[in-house]
Amino acid sequence: MADTIVIIGAGPAGVVAVETLREHDRQSRVVMLSAEPFPPYSPPAMVDHFITGSNLHFWRAPNWAEQLQVDYRPGAQVTSVNPTSHQLRLADDSLLAYDYLVIATGSRLYAPLPGVDLPGVYNFKSLSAAQALIGKVKRGEARTAVIVGAGFIGMEIALLLRELGVQVIQVEMLDQVMPAMLDPFTATFALQLMRQRGVEVRLNTKAKCFVGEGQAIGVELETGEILYADLLIAATGVRPNIDFLEGSGIACRWGISVDHYLRTSAPDVYAAGDVVETPDRLTGEVFVHAILPNAIEQGRVVGLNLGKRGLGCPTSYEGAERMNSLKHLGLPILAAGLKQGDEMLRARVNGGWRTLYLQDDRLVGFQLIGGLRAAGALRTLLNRQETLRRLKDRLLEPNFGQGALVWSALCF
Ligand SMILES: Cc1cc2nc3c(=O)[nH]c(=O)nc-3n(C[C@H](O)[C@H](O)[C@H](O)COP(=O)(O)OP(=O)(O)OC[C@H]3O[C@@H](n4cnc5c(N)ncnc54)[C@H](O)[C@@H]3O)c2cc1C
Repeated sequence: MADTIVIIGAGPAGVVAVETLREHDRQSRVVMLSAEPFPPYSPPAMVDHFITGSNLHFWRAPNWAEQLQVDYRPGAQVTSVNPTSHQLRLADDSLLAYDYLVIATGSRLYAPLPGVDLPGVYNFKSLSAAQALIGKVKRGEARTAVIVGAGFIGMEIALLLRELGVQVIQVEMLDQVMPAMLDPFTATFALQLMRQRGVEVRLNTKAKCFVGEGQAIGVELETGEILYADLLIAATGVRPNIDFLEGSGIACRWGISVDHYLRTSAPDVYAAGDVVETPDRLTGEVFVHAILPNAIEQGRVVGLNLGKRGLGCPTSYEGAERMNSLKHLGLPILAAGLKQGDEMLRARVNGGWRTLYLQDDRLVGFQLIGGLRAAGALRTLLNRQETLRRLKDRLLEPNFGQGALVWSALCF
């Protein structure tokens, strides 16, 4: 009898896992569950969707599930998993049996702030959450907003709300925007662009709690000042969706622990995407690297390893990348790898800036403002980790990354 493969989650990791599986297995029965009531969507497309109306649902062909023979069940939330009986339980109390299971449940808002659960506190971490927030703006019920956090998602929301005509104050407890990814130079540039777009960013400003009686009406700062607004938004970080695994015995720390083949500690159970902890390609450090390229690559590896095929010669995962980009600032910004090394190279290139970090003559990180044409070649150098001693000067040339210059760099 054909195996039943159940995928929990219809984000990029889950979708790519199925697409890859179907390249070598058309026999297994595949059931995909999503807690949300939508067709699969890609979260990075949400901002453009709300600005331009671009069709976010058709990230894949509308008949995607039919083409891949997937029994897709939106609005089906998993509440527990029992690896011993190979079964999972859904919110309606029904049970579903699996031969192989993929956990691709992504991440949700992490906001350790009192009052965050009050009605009137919004976030942008899922389409359901984003629709509630943007619906209020489009109905004309919100002219002002306070956003707590100037990480990547907070910046995206601020720019989207400005685009929709909302007055935005953004508070960040650290001394720069996007502290996890940007070096101080690039962050200062991004901050200036945010301010030019009319976002009032306040650095070194720590929010203490959301305040209100039964309904949030403001954000109280550590100074005691209260910022009142029509929209109060938490953008303080994300954490993996693993609550439903409590009692399952599946090993988790901050996210799900996996081996090199993305297998969890339970037999026949894999995990991919924002929900897993994986080693960093550069440093080997194990943590959740919650970005799209990693979710896609992990989905691909799980899709290759799933089922009987994985038993023979499993494909190993090479490790996660650190990367992020800001597309809606007016000038694109892209950061990858580390933001320090034993040598820093920086030049003004094509009206923007290129900053490179090297360690022992190897590229360990780069930050681009403006022209992104070198990004592909720099990413390759970052992943290859070969010595660049003889090539360093060329890395800052404006046309590095194109044609002959990239070949001479990569074939040294
Ligand atoms: C606004 C925004 C912009 C972003 N922009 C970028 C970007 O520009 N570049 C980049 O690299 N990354 C970006 N990201 C991050 C990127 O979206 C994630 O890394 C990626 O979506 C992770 O994919 P995933 O499949 O692991 O999880 P998700 O996309 O989060 O999908 C998780 C799925 O699991 C389902 N689910 C969760 N719990 C359950 C349950 N108990 N039962 C059933 N189903 C469940 C959800 O409904 C959903 O279908 C952005 C994220 C956001 C929110």
